[in-house]
Amino acid sequence: MQSSHSVKLARLKLLCNKDHAMEYDAIVIGGGPAGLSAGTELAQAGHRVLLLEKESFGGPIVNIEWLNGYPRPGEKVAGAMLASEMVKQAEQLGVEMELAEVVEIEPYSGCISVSCADGRAYTSSVVIQAGGLHSRKLGIPGEEEFQGKGMIHCAMCDAGLYRDRVVAVCGGGNAGLIEALYLARFASKVFVFEAQSQLSARPVLQARALANAKLEIRLGEKPVEIIGREGVTGLVVENAATGKRETLGVYGVLVHVGYAPTTGYLEGVFMLDDSGRITVNEQFETDVSGAYAAGDVRSGSPRQVSAAVSDGKAAAKRAQEMLASSQR
Ligand SMILES: Cc1cc2nc3c(=O)[nH]c(=O)nc-3n(C[C@H](O)[C@H](O)[C@H](O)COP(=O)(O)OP(=O)(O)OC[C@H]3O[C@@H](n4cnc5c(N)ncnc54)[C@H](O)[C@@H]3O)c2cc1C
Repeated sequence: MQSSHSVKLARLKLLCNKDHAMEYDAIVIGGGPAGLSAGTELAQAGHRVLLLEKESFGGPIVNIEWLNGYPRPGEKVAGAMLASEMVKQAEQLGVEMELAEVVEIEPYSGCISVSCADGRAYTSSVVIQAGGLHSRKLGIPGEEEFQGKGMIHCAMCDAGLYRDRVVAVCGGGNAGLIEALYLARFASKVFVFEAQSQLSARPVLQARALANAKLEIRLGEKPVEIIGREGVTGLVVENAATGKRETLGVYGVLVHVGYAPTTGYLEGVFMLDDSGRITVNEQFETDVSGAYAAGDVRSGSPRQVSAAVSDGKAAAKRAQEMLASSQR
C-alpha cells in the first residue's frame, strides 16, 4: 500500500508537470499589508491569485488604533480602516482569499506546492511569502494556562474588560508603551515591567508614559510567573539585580517583549538570516526560483506598513515578469 506521503508526492509531480496547468499563477501567504498589496497587484494584471491567511484578513494592523507614518497627508489613519480598505480592494480585483495556515512549502522545477494545516494543498508558479512577525512569549508558568482568562492580546480590543482594574504590561518598547497608554484610559493602574535598566521605546512615547499618572514603570524587573485560579489574579516579578521576588495583584497581563518571524516551517526551504527572516535580493527574490518574500518577514525590513505595501507591490511586479517569461 502506498504511504500518504508517496501519494502526495505523486500528485504533486503530476500537478507540477510542465504541461499541466498550475492551479494558480501565484499563491500569497499572509493577508497583512504586504500580502494584500502583492495579491492586488498580481490580480490587477490578470493573474489567478490565491491568498492564504491563518488568522484575520488585514493582519494585525486591525488592532492598531492610529498608524504613524502612513502617507495620507492631513489624515489620521486608523489601522482597522486601512485593513478593511485593502481587503475590499483585493476582493474586488478577484484575489481568492481563504483562511488557512500554511505549514509547508515544497519547490519543484517550475512549480511550488503549498500545504495547509487542515490538509489542503495547492500548486502555483509563484509564491510570495508575506507572513510578517508574531509576538514572542515570556515562556513563564501561567502564560499558556491563562490564555483567554486574563492574558490580554490587544489593548484596543480588550481594554474595556479591565475598566477600573489593575493590569500589567511586560515590555518597555514601542508596542508595550503604546498598549500601556491605551489600557490606562480604562484601567485604574497599569504596571509596566521592563527587564532592562531602561525603556527602549521612542523618546516621545517614553515622555507620554512618564507623564501618565496611571502608569507605574518598573525597570530592571522581569515577570517570572502569572498566578490565579479561574483567571489572572497576580504577577510574580523578580528584581534582576537583587533576585528579590514580589507578587503584585493584577487582573490582566499583556506581553510585548519583541517579535519573531513566522518562518519555523521554512527552515531548509529558504535561506534565512540569523533572526529567522527570509533573505532576499533587491528584487525580493528568495534563493528559490519563483519564490519571493515581502514585508516584515524579509530580512532588512524597516517594519512599517508603508514599506510592507511597497515590498508587496515590488515583489509582485518581479513575479509578473517571471510569469510572463515562463509563458513565452
Ligand atoms: C503594536 C504595533 C504598532 C505598530 N504601529 C505601526 C505604526 O503606527 N505605523 C506603521 O507603519 N507600522 C506600525 N507597526 C508595524 C506594522 O504593523 C507592520 O510593519 C506591518 O503590519 C507589516 O505588514 P506585513 O504584511 O509584512 O505583516 P503582517 O501585518 O504581520 O501580516 C502578516 C500576516 O500573515 C499571516 N500569517 C503568518 N504566517 C502565516 C501562515 N503560515 N499561513 C497563513 N498566514 C500566515 C498572519 O496571520 C498575518 O495576518 C506596528 C506594529 C505593532 C505590533
